Amino acid sequence: HLQERVPENEIPELNRLADSFNRMAHDLEGVEQRRRDLVGDLTHELRTPLTVIEGYLEGLADGTIEPSSDIYQRLAKETVRLRRLVNDLQELSKAEAGYLPIQLQPVQIRPLLVAIVQKFSDQLLEESPTLKVDCPDTLPQALADPERVEQVLINLVGNALRYTPEGSITLRAWAEQERVWIAVEDTGKGIAAEDLPHVFERFWRSDRSRDRHSGGTGIGLAISRRLVELQKGTIEAESEVGQGSTFRFSLPILVERPKLLSSLRDRE
Ligand code: ADP
Repeated sequence: HLQERVPENEIPELNRLADSFNRMAHDLEGVEQRRRDLVGDLTHELRTPLTVIEGYLEGLADGTIEPSSDIYQRLAKETVRLRRLVNDLQELSKAEAGYLPIQLQPVQIRPLLVAIVQKFSDQLLEESPTLKVDCPDTLPQALADPERVEQVLINLVGNALRYTPEGSITLRAWAEQERVWIAVEDTGKGIAAEDLPHVFERFWRSDRSRDRHSGGTGIGLAISRRLVELQKGTIEAESEVGQGSTFRFSLPILVERPKLLSSLRDRE
């Protein structure tokens, strides 16, 4: 029918249009599928602490559970979990929609790493792994948002501590071509090779039931990846079961204008 009504030379154009409509419909299906997955994951994550809270409250109400500080602590723990989940989700949705303001500025990495170690040192127990910084004083500055870099590091160091029963955690930084790399290396339980590609997916956790006791939400790395990408960087992980994991991310090195100008002048 097309041929009867449409001039011959416009048919390729119509086919192209039909193609792009099909592609759009296909993309929208993908978006819809991801939305459904997200709602499913969310429901699951919210239901678990809610069920626990509900159980305790019912028991307390009908007298089958004696009120005790232990029970209240457990209730508080589940509530904290819900609060973390909601906060993390809010951050994630802002990050994914690109609403997280990123203020790029010159950032000195070494003082930032030292401050992070300082921050965590208050929480360290005697048996906790030790935290070390390995970063040259001469490291070039990065062009990044210091608060967002700190947020990523808090996630990575928090994980390293959570999944490293003993040993050491090293915060390392170095420069490579136009990038500064920052790595958090631990000597913890490690991640299986088949799990490694999934760690940056939201809600993903290895051995879900076991890790749930560690208090994780499975969102931290998804947020971290988005934050690094918003700063024009990349993030990757390497791990060996029983040996430990390394999470590293890159940031652009600050290109100082005077240098640029002088190099242009040199060329003239
Ligand atoms: P969570 O809040 O559960 O830690 P993340 O997104 O930060 O969520 O991490 C996702 C999963 O990746 C964790 O549940 C854990 O299974 C695994 N993981 C992350 N960091 C490490 C690490 N340093 N060592 C071992 N496993 C890790």
